[in-house]
Amino acid sequence: MCIAPTQYSLSYTNNHGKAKDRVVRLLDTTLRDGEQMPGISLTPQQKLEIALALAELGVDSIEAGFPITSRGEFEAVKTIAREVRGTEVIALARAEKADIDKVIEAEVPAVHTFIATSDLHMKYKLRMSPGQVIEKAVWAVEYAKSHGLVVEFSAEDATRSNLRFLIKVFQAVVEAGADRIDIPDTVGVAYPSYMSSLVSYVRSSVKGSYILSVHCHNDFGMAVANSVTAIESGADQAHVTVLGVGERAGNAALEEVASALAFLYGYKVKIDFSKINKVAKLVAQHFGLQIPPNKAIVGANAFSHESGIHVHGVLNHPLTYEPIDPSIVGAERRIVVGKHSGKHAIMYVIKQLGYEPREDVVMRLLNKVKDLADRGIRVNQNLLIKLVKEEYGE
Ligand code: MN
Repeated sequence: MCIAPTQYSLSYTNNHGKAKDRVVRLLDTTLRDGEQMPGISLTPQQKLEIALALAELGVDSIEAGFPITSRGEFEAVKTIAREVRGTEVIALARAEKADIDKVIEAEVPAVHTFIATSDLHMKYKLRMSPGQVIEKAVWAVEYAKSHGLVVEFSAEDATRSNLRFLIKVFQAVVEAGADRIDIPDTVGVAYPSYMSSLVSYVRSSVKGSYILSVHCHNDFGMAVANSVTAIESGADQAHVTVLGVGERAGNAALEEVASALAFLYGYKVKIDFSKINKVAKLVAQHFGLQIPPNKAIVGANAFSHESGIHVHGVLNHPLTYEPIDPSIVGAERRIVVGKHSGKHAIMYVIKQLGYEPREDVVMRLLNKVKDLADRGIRVNQNLLIKLVKEEYGE
């Protein structure tokens, strides 16, 4: 049973008026980190469809892919860069000439180039000295800038890197012309207070003009909390993916980060929230995923109510048990009838079907519903309508 949306103005934010004028950038990487989710491979057509939906949703930047990966990936990135209008398209490249050349060849206007800066990665993966890493990072940024690209530089595994070395790398790439620097929490080991001090430290230590970004992973369920904390501590941009898809436990979920920034903190984001549920469904479909019902903002239960106390409250005033009006995020409020129902939900359903809710009928129906639920039978809308009609002799 859906309740027709009753528009009410948002009256709840936590920001105490301090956040209002800051505009936060969102770089969506559903089509790059998201597609690196184990077992996922999208066709170029599916990638384009998602990119166009993301542009319509209003993200600031779409990371379309990693062009050197495969021929199909290269073509998909090239097509997205050609077809998407009004939103920056960016592509991933290691700090390698061959990778950056592929981005240039795909006619993408922006490159996201990266090299690892943690001792662990430098020693066991790159087999390079810190000096060589800085040299390569600077070379990559200068090379990309000399081809007219917007450059975002990521210090891979930043949250496990030596802090003084990290600052040195960031300072060097900013001086080489990087437009944006990004702090990736590559294996999701940061937690909010740590992220907060790291972001503040980078912001105050690295001199020059640059946009500061974070890229958070969800290995400990902290991706969204770390992202919004980073923004609160002075970062300008967060990397996000729709539904939090991504490597391992995934990335920070776009719908959660954007909603928290806008509705809790009061920052400005350029997202058209009314489209956010539609985009989530499209991504779920192309990734072959079921959206968990309890998923924030876009889950089927995000604005559903069954318990008697909650239904009674919501029917009197929706804000009693909802943080925001579901229609703001393109969702619907649902009243679900079951074991936890009270008479107000039953009365509501009877009225919706055009009958007068007599006390004896309401109580009889409520008992029937609870009996069925106790036997494990889910009382869906069709069954409920049938029960009501039986009571009224139809
Ligand atoms: Mn990642």
